[in-house]
Amino acid sequence: MYDVIVVGSGPAGSVAAWQLARAGVQVAVLEKAALPRYKTCGGGIIGRAWQSLPIDVRHVIEQDCATAQLHVRPGGLSFTTHRPTPIVSMTMRDRFDYALLSAALTAGTVLHERCAAEDVSLQCDSVTVTTHKGTMRAKFLIAADGALCRVARNMGMTDGRVLIPALEYEVTVPQERLERFSGVARFDFGILPHGYGWAFPKRQHLSIGVLSMVKREGELKRAMTQYLDLLGCRDVSQMEPHGFVIPIRPRTGPFIKNRVLLVGDAAGFADPVTGEGISFALQTGQLAAQSLVGGNLEEASVQQAYSRSLAESILPELRAGRRLARLLYDFPRLRAWAFSWQGQRLCEVVTDVMAGKRRYRDLAFTPQTLLKLLAAH
Ligand SMILES: Cc1cc2nc3c(=O)[nH]c(=O)nc-3n(C[C@H](O)[C@H](O)[C@H](O)COP(=O)(O)OP(=O)(O)OC[C@H]3O[C@@H](n4cnc5c(N)ncnc54)[C@H](O)[C@@H]3O)c2cc1C
Repeated sequence: MYDVIVVGSGPAGSVAAWQLARAGVQVAVLEKAALPRYKTCGGGIIGRAWQSLPIDVRHVIEQDCATAQLHVRPGGLSFTTHRPTPIVSMTMRDRFDYALLSAALTAGTVLHERCAAEDVSLQCDSVTVTTHKGTMRAKFLIAADGALCRVARNMGMTDGRVLIPALEYEVTVPQERLERFSGVARFDFGILPHGYGWAFPKRQHLSIGVLSMVKREGELKRAMTQYLDLLGCRDVSQMEPHGFVIPIRPRTGPFIKNRVLLVGDAAGFADPVTGEGISFALQTGQLAAQSLVGGNLEEASVQQAYSRSLAESILPELRAGRRLARLLYDFPRLRAWAFSWQGQRLCEVVTDVMAGKRRYRDLAFTPQTLLKLLAAH
């Protein structure tokens, strides 16, 4: 019997466990994989994520990028933004996530590794989790089990998330070609109609990816082939392909059912503009932990605290981000016009949001301004 069981040891689950353990709560993490485990991800940690990261994990950063480049096709436009501090810091997720989890273990968290949560059932004052190693009980459960979120499905929680497909290739290139990408987070619009590509430099290789905001069979793979060509990376000797999904629209809610709280991708909290999900995973992991501690592990107080904190912080930000995402992905001609008219400004603004210096909801992407833009188009 624990106070809290956390299912999943990604950023959301690990940081929640860390915070709970430090507050003296008896917490266990269940992780289905053997650790450390590969996670399909660009491994780009943006400034907004660092702002909500209370644990020092700088040692797992492979490269800092204080420059971001956006290339827009067709039209051949290119924009570059610089900041005095890194815009994106590059890591590999096996090391990043394990560093967060290690901090949680040091703080007193119990780990059950290679231990998938298979079934969850509710009692009036507890939650029971069934695994192949036996059953465990806790007063509360945090579902941090990522985009496939077995726990929420098991609990019959309303979904409504939009999951988009993304590919990530870990590409080993010769040293001189790797140096061409050094220090720059590169993004490309227009290599596929409703998405973008990225090339992130790591210590010894490139993480190259594409995502599409709409599901179209075959489109992503074709786009990836073209993108590798464009980057001059088709002929490389070693290439590891991976694919997964990103939730770019949250659940319709609620995000807590009785004694089960959803955080990170399981709740659908990735950025609708970029697909970046680590910053909101870190934030919601901590909001869940704070709600449990602040609510004294009492069901009604915890429910109220968690729902209120999401309504005040993450949810308005995701709503505002969706308005910008519509402009960028649903209307390619409007996007081309917006970039030719105000491309540098748009890039500076999005860079500021990524850096955590501005919020989407403070920008002028209101329905009224978008309607005006659409009408003028
Ligand atoms: C191709 C791609 C590129 C991306 N690039 C970036 C990027 O550069 N920057 C960024 O910020 N975001 C990126 N994202 C999004 C980011 O990866 C996610 O938003 C983030 O990992 C969410 O964290 P999480 O803790 O909610 O879930 P996850 O990181 O998915 O962790 C969930 C954990 O739960 C475990 N688990 C699952 N089911 C069970 C079970 N039944 N029992 C026990 N354990 C279980 C899993 O093994 C996993 O360890 C990318 C996503 C994709 C697909």
